[in-house]
Amino acid sequence: MDILDKLKRISPWHYIWISVIFSELITAVLSIVQGKLWWGGVSRETLIIGMVDALVVPLIVATIVIYFIKQATELQRINEQLQEANRKLQSMDKMKSDLVSVVSHELRTPLTTIKAFVELLLMKTSMPDQQKAKLLGTINIEANRLTRLIADLLDLARIEAGSMRWRTEPLHIEEIIRASLASIGPLFENSRIRLTKDIELPLPAFYGDADRLIQVVTNILTNAIKFSPAGGLVHITARHEPGPGGRIVVAISDTGSGIAPEDIDQIFEKFHRSGDQLTSSIDGTGLGLAISRQIVEYHGGRIWATSERGKGSVFTFTLPLAGKAGGPGPGR
Ligand code: ADP
Repeated sequence: MDILDKLKRISPWHYIWISVIFSELITAVLSIVQGKLWWGGVSRETLIIGMVDALVVPLIVATIVIYFIKQATELQRINEQLQEANRKLQSMDKMKSDLVSVVSHELRTPLTTIKAFVELLLMKTSMPDQQKAKLLGTINIEANRLTRLIADLLDLARIEAGSMRWRTEPLHIEEIIRASLASIGPLFENSRIRLTKDIELPLPAFYGDADRLIQVVTNILTNAIKFSPAGGLVHITARHEPGPGGRIVVAISDTGSGIAPEDIDQIFEKFHRSGDQLTSSIDGTGLGLAISRQIVEYHGGRIWATSERGKGSVFTFTLPLAGKAGGPGPGR
């Protein structure tokens, strides 16, 4: 803290009293010294009153000036803080309205389709079975999309509000990858995408929430399949980076469409889908990576993507071996 800060903390009344006491002391000393020199020329009382006038008055004026400067600086600081808070509130308000408009769009689109198709089925009872099956298929797809969207929104809201229930236990990353592949393995076969793995065993255990980490791996793998053409290749690597900040590093690469440089950081934001994917036929909520980032960061790790348009992408995430404070750890 510099001297000005220290001065600012002293109340103005203290300034006045300190000034008066100091000036009295100085006056007394000077009076004695000058009294010795001019004894007899000027009376001691006149000398004291003169010295008090000469020293106390400027000191009091200085104190008052300092007081007003202090008040003005304080006001300016408060004003800057208020302006900053106002800017933050405005940007939060904008984010909230953006979110509301995206959520309502994302909810309304499947609902409109479902409603229209159900009405059609109700009106045209004589519709051929084949056509009926097609409409019911679409209704099913849209209903699944709504269910997924609502589940993702709830997950994100719970994590952001800090009310998500985390179940942490000692884990091995190879188990997490295996569990994820068990649930989405058939997707690889259906899409004719090859999968290769390079897991450097044995890998040390770490503390984490298995279900949530499976969700992260599953989301990255599902995206790799979704955004890769048939005949593509997805490669998973997992390794241990030893040292004081020891961590597990998982990287999932694909040979898919890739991501434009201007989108690469944004795709971890809620509802951000790169290019024209929001309106394209590739299904998704735009929430998977936002949730994945929250989960990885909860574990004290980091997640990022590197990509080249048309050549593919690599999604990497890290998990520290020592649970971070506020995140999972042996005591939690
Ligand atoms: P969703 O896949 O449901 O749209 P995500 O949050 O998982 O939502 O992904 C956000 C966006 O990031 C995707 O819409 C897509 O534009 C881009 N993306 C994610 N993974 C890949 C990938 N492997 N290749 C190309 N683009 C990707």
